[in-house]
Amino acid sequence: MTHTEMLLHIHENALMALTDANEQSNLAPRIVQTLGDAKDSGGFHLRDGSYLNGLVKRNVDYCAAIDFSVIQKARRISDQAGITMDAGHIKWFLHILSLNGFVAWYRRKSQGFAGEHIHAIYVGVPMKPQLQRQVKDYLAGLDGLAHHRQETFWRADDTADAALRVLFEKHN
Ligand SMILES: [Zn+2]
Repeated sequence: MTHTEMLLHIHENALMALTDANEQSNLAPRIVQTLGDAKDSGGFHLRDGSYLNGLVKRNVDYCAAIDFSVIQKARRISDQAGITMDAGHIKWFLHILSLNGFVAWYRRKSQGFAGEHIHAIYVGVPMKPQLQRQVKDYLAGLDGLAHHRQETFWRADDTADAALRVLFEKHN
Protein backbone atom coordinates (compact mmCIF):
# COMPACT_ATOMS: atom_id res chain seq x y z
CA MET A 1 0.00 0.00 0.00
CA THR A 2 1.34 3.46 -0.84
CA HIS A 3 1.54 6.16 1.82
CA THR A 4 -1.45 7.94 0.25
CA GLU A 5 -3.50 4.73 0.33
CA MET A 6 -2.56 4.16 3.97
CA LEU A 7 -3.78 7.67 4.84
CA LEU A 8 -7.06 7.05 3.00
CA HIS A 9 -7.77 4.08 5.28
CA ILE A 10 -7.53 6.19 8.42
CA HIS A 11 -10.93 7.56 9.50
CA GLU A 12 -10.99 11.31 8.75
CA ASN A 13 -11.53 12.18 12.43
CA ALA A 14 -8.52 10.09 13.35
CA LEU A 15 -6.46 11.72 10.61
CA MET A 16 -7.32 15.18 11.95
CA ALA A 17 -6.32 14.06 15.44
CA LEU A 18 -3.07 12.64 14.09
CA THR A 19 -2.29 15.88 12.24
CA ASP A 20 -2.77 17.75 15.53
CA ALA A 21 -0.50 15.27 17.30
CA ASN A 22 2.18 15.70 14.64
CA GLU A 23 2.04 19.49 14.97
CA GLN A 24 2.01 19.50 18.78
CA SER A 25 4.86 17.03 19.04
CA ASN A 26 6.76 18.55 16.10
CA LEU A 27 7.27 14.95 15.02
CA ALA A 28 5.81 12.75 12.29
CA PRO A 29 6.94 9.15 12.70
CA ARG A 30 6.55 7.15 9.51
CA ILE A 31 3.24 5.30 9.17
CA VAL A 32 3.85 1.67 8.22
CA GLN A 33 0.36 0.16 8.54
CA THR A 34 -3.26 1.32 8.80
CA LEU A 35 -5.83 -1.04 7.31
CA GLY A 36 -3.97 -4.25 6.56
CA ASP A 37 -3.34 -7.87 7.32
CA ALA A 38 0.38 -8.03 8.11
CA LYS A 39 1.28 -11.49 9.36
CA ASP A 40 2.53 -10.25 12.75
CA SER A 41 -0.58 -8.15 13.41
CA GLY A 42 -2.94 -10.96 14.38
CA GLY A 43 -5.96 -9.37 12.71
CA PHE A 44 -5.81 -6.15 14.75
CA HIS A 45 -5.52 -4.07 11.57
CA LEU A 46 -8.52 -5.56 9.76
CA ARG A 47 -11.50 -3.37 8.87
CA ASP A 48 -13.37 -1.54 11.66
CA GLY A 49 -15.94 0.21 9.50
CA SER A 50 -16.24 2.71 6.69
CA TYR A 51 -16.56 6.48 6.46
CA LEU A 52 -17.62 8.86 3.70
CA ASN A 53 -14.43 10.45 2.42
CA GLY A 54 -15.12 13.99 1.18
CA LEU A 55 -12.17 14.02 -1.19
CA VAL A 56 -12.83 10.84 -3.14
CA LYS A 57 -16.61 11.10 -2.47
CA ARG A 58 -17.21 7.49 -1.58
CA ASN A 59 -17.27 5.23 1.44
CA VAL A 60 -13.82 4.01 2.38
CA ASP A 61 -12.94 1.21 4.81
CA TYR A 62 -10.91 2.25 7.83
CA CYS A 63 -9.01 0.63 10.65
CA ALA A 64 -8.80 2.49 13.98
CA ALA A 65 -5.26 1.19 14.51
CA ILE A 66 -2.13 2.80 13.06
CA ASP A 67 1.42 1.49 13.24
CA PHE A 68 4.36 3.90 13.23
CA SER A 69 7.92 2.85 12.61
CA VAL A 70 10.47 3.74 15.27
CA ILE A 71 13.28 2.31 13.16
CA GLN A 72 12.87 4.54 10.14
CA LYS A 73 13.52 8.21 10.69
CA ALA A 74 10.67 10.44 11.81
CA ARG A 75 10.14 13.83 10.16
CA ARG A 76 10.56 16.89 12.34
CA ILE A 77 7.67 19.15 11.29
CA SER A 78 9.40 22.51 11.85
CA ASP A 79 12.28 21.95 9.43
CA GLN A 80 11.49 18.60 7.75
CA ALA A 81 14.68 17.09 9.20
CA GLY A 82 14.94 13.32 9.56
CA ILE A 83 15.07 12.36 13.24
CA THR A 84 16.34 9.03 14.58
CA MET A 85 13.89 8.11 17.33
CA ASP A 86 15.26 7.23 20.75
CA ALA A 87 13.30 6.27 23.89
CA GLY A 88 12.76 9.94 24.69
CA HIS A 89 11.21 10.67 21.30
CA ILE A 90 8.98 7.61 21.58
CA LYS A 91 7.71 8.58 25.04
CA TRP A 92 7.15 12.16 23.90
CA PHE A 93 5.11 11.01 20.89
CA LEU A 94 3.11 8.51 23.00
CA HIS A 95 2.34 11.36 25.41
CA ILE A 96 1.11 13.70 22.68
CA LEU A 97 -0.94 10.90 21.09
CA SER A 98 -2.65 10.34 24.45
CA LEU A 99 -3.74 14.00 24.47
CA ASN A 100 -5.28 13.64 21.01
CA GLY A 101 -7.53 10.61 21.32
CA PHE A 102 -5.06 7.79 20.80
CA VAL A 103 -4.10 4.94 23.07
CA ALA A 104 -0.67 3.67 22.03
CA TRP A 105 2.09 1.30 23.01
CA TYR A 106 5.72 0.91 22.03
CA ARG A 107 6.00 -2.67 20.70
CA ARG A 108 9.53 -3.83 21.33
CA LYS A 109 11.92 -6.73 20.74
CA SER A 110 11.73 -7.92 24.36
CA GLN A 111 8.00 -8.56 23.77
CA GLY A 112 8.73 -10.63 20.68
CA PHE A 113 8.32 -7.94 18.02
CA ALA A 114 11.05 -8.23 15.40
CA GLY A 115 10.03 -4.92 13.83
CA GLU A 116 9.80 -2.44 16.69
CA HIS A 117 6.97 0.04 16.22
CA ILE A 118 4.27 2.11 17.91
CA HIS A 119 0.81 0.53 17.78
CA ALA A 120 -1.82 3.27 18.24
CA ILE A 121 -5.62 3.12 18.27
CA TYR A 122 -7.82 6.18 17.73
CA VAL A 123 -10.63 5.70 20.26
CA GLY A 124 -13.10 8.24 18.81
CA VAL A 125 -14.48 5.88 16.15
CA PRO A 126 -16.35 2.55 16.32
CA MET A 127 -14.01 -0.43 16.26
CA LYS A 128 -14.10 -4.22 16.27
CA PRO A 129 -14.22 -6.11 19.61
CA GLN A 130 -10.58 -7.18 19.24
CA LEU A 131 -9.42 -3.54 19.36
CA GLN A 132 -11.97 -2.64 22.05
CA ARG A 133 -10.37 -5.25 24.29
CA GLN A 134 -6.97 -3.68 23.68
CA VAL A 135 -8.26 -0.23 24.58
CA LYS A 136 -9.72 -1.62 27.83
CA ASP A 137 -6.34 -3.20 28.55
CA TYR A 138 -4.64 0.15 27.99
CA LEU A 139 -7.03 1.94 30.33
CA ALA A 140 -6.22 -0.69 32.96
CA GLY A 141 -2.47 -0.10 32.53
CA LEU A 142 -1.89 -3.32 30.60
CA ASP A 143 0.02 -4.05 27.41
CA GLY A 144 -2.86 -5.25 25.21
CA LEU A 145 -1.00 -8.45 24.33
CA ALA A 146 -1.95 -12.09 24.81
CA HIS A 147 -0.82 -12.32 28.45
CA HIS A 148 -2.20 -8.91 29.48
CA ARG A 149 0.92 -7.87 31.33
CA GLN A 150 1.47 -4.58 33.08
CA GLU A 151 2.78 -2.00 30.59
CA THR A 152 6.22 -0.92 31.77
CA PHE A 153 7.61 1.41 29.08
CA TRP A 154 5.24 4.33 29.42
CA ARG A 155 1.81 5.23 30.88
CA ALA A 156 -0.47 8.18 30.21
CA ASP A 157 -1.36 10.33 33.23
CA ASP A 158 -4.77 9.96 34.90
CA THR A 159 -6.25 13.05 33.25
CA ALA A 160 -5.38 11.82 29.77
CA ASP A 161 -6.67 8.34 30.61
CA ALA A 162 -9.99 9.74 31.84
CA ALA A 163 -10.49 11.75 28.63
CA LEU A 164 -9.61 8.73 26.48
CA ARG A 165 -12.14 6.62 28.39
CA VAL A 166 -14.92 9.18 27.79
CA LEU A 167 -14.13 9.43 24.08
CA PHE A 168 -13.94 5.63 23.73
CA GLU A 169 -17.24 5.01 25.52
CA LYS A 170 -18.99 7.65 23.42
CA HIS A 171 -18.16 5.77 20.21
CA ASN A 172 -17.99 2.15 21.33
ZN1 LIG B 1 -0.57 -2.40 15.01
